[in-house]
Amino acid sequence: MVRRLTFRSAKLANWLSHFVTNMKKNTFERGIGLFDKHRVWDYHASENGLNASVEDLHNSFFQVHIRWRKEDCEIYGTDQLLPNPDKLDCFCDCPSDGPYCEHVTASIIYWIMRLDDRNEDVNAESAADQGDSPAYQNLMTRFAGLVRSETPSYQRFDANKLRLLPDVQTTAEQIVKSVMTRDDQ
Ligand SMILES: [Zn+2]
Repeated sequence: MVRRLTFRSAKLANWLSHFVTNMKKNTFERGIGLFDKHRVWDYHASENGLNASVEDLHNSFFQVHIRWRKEDCEIYGTDQLLPNPDKLDCFCDCPSDGPYCEHVTASIIYWIMRLDDRNEDVNAESAADQGDSPAYQNLMTRFAGLVRSETPSYQRFDANKLRLLPDVQTTAEQIVKSVMTRDDQ
């Protein structure tokens, strides 16, 4: 059982949810598992990307390098750059053949949770959001779009369930869990 990822910022939750749609089923859960067990080491972020060393469950270390271009970023908070989640160059020296392994995922989660901890746009997108803010509406619109898309994992995803959630502390993990549960049926 992994810990919930709880965001202050709907924008960042939205970002991670979008990023997750690029990866294979279960990779995200394994990434959360590594993040949750504090397996992300030697983390360094810059405006062009981040580097980390991620320890797997068998105590092997893998080097993760994630790069993005400034022109693919929007400004988040006062001066942070938020890259387009579809335009990340991700590298890991593990044997995984997919573009996104659990080590990359754990590094991304580590990065975005730190960004969320900076707390800079809490005033704009409060955790007390009751579901009527532009941020929340954007989140709903995005998931409605995913449901309509041909992305197999989302085909049977019931967007109406999201509307029952009490506030914008919707977690990417919850969403993915719902998708996975339905996908397994
Ligand atoms: Zn890897």
